[in-house]
Amino acid sequence: QWIYLGGEFVNKNEAVVSVYDHGFLYGDGVFEGIRTYEGNIFKLDEHLDRLYDSAKSIMLHIPYEKEELEAIIAETVRKNKLETAYIRVVVSRGAGNLGLDPASCSNPRVVVIAEALALFPKELYERGVRLASVSSRRNRPDVLPPQVKSLNYLNNILVKMEANQAGVDEALMLNDQGYVTEGSADNIFIVKKGIIYTPPTYLGALEGITRNAIMDLAEEKGYTVKEQPFTRHDVYVADEVFLTGTAAEVIAVVEVDQRKVGDGSPGVVTNHLLSEFRKVTTTDGYK
Ligand code: PLP
Repeated sequence: QWIYLGGEFVNKNEAVVSVYDHGFLYGDGVFEGIRTYEGNIFKLDEHLDRLYDSAKSIMLHIPYEKEELEAIIAETVRKNKLETAYIRVVVSRGAGNLGLDPASCSNPRVVVIAEALALFPKELYERGVRLASVSSRRNRPDVLPPQVKSLNYLNNILVKMEANQAGVDEALMLNDQGYVTEGSADNIFIVKKGIIYTPPTYLGALEGITRNAIMDLAEEKGYTVKEQPFTRHDVYVADEVFLTGTAAEVIAVVEVDQRKVGDGSPGVVTNHLLSEFRKVTTTDGYK
């Protein structure tokens, strides 16, 4: 397996970075998770836009033009002879001294990893997933903007651990006012009386590429989609709940805090959107 590491392709075993890298020391950096479908890199432009915006927000210089990085990503997929892959792009502040100040880091480090995708088991899509709301809260948007996909994922890791401890598949994260924000690495939607709702990202949710794709697709198919704050109660009494994300695509939620969602099986709107989504993923990508 070939990894792109700061200007060259190296073997997986040789793909190592310095212990002085501020990505390692402080989580100082940004990243993207992208996937390919039969060789198409899905929504690459959108992922690159988000990566460059995240970097700009934390004043991290990506040492490539977007087109150059696009070519590097495509080359990484090709070089590894992958058709269906998960791609991780990481840009860290680079190696510096032990102080926090990024001024000591003169070379941001760019890494691209592409590997065969570990798909969620088919049963999970048929059965749906269970959620538990967790005590850790999403970072306040004025502290760490939720639009920044930074390497600092401790918050998300803590909620994932809480979900594991509760014996469920995924966490339901709230913000400090009690509004629903997202899962540990996916966005959330609810369906009530035929209308689809998702929290506005300013409450504390990443502006997911899959989230946006599903909103567009749902509107195209004639559904009304509203970005509107809602609480746990609204999730409990929703007709349907589903999560979206690059890895998960669209996955039904069938239980939340031990309350059954709808009749306890994936809903019709969720299934409809998943099947429509699967139609566009193979045709609407970067070759
Ligand atoms: N929310 C968080 C915190 C994430 O890390 C991710 C995954 O990237 C998502 C939501 C879903 O975003 P996307 O659809 O762009 O993968």
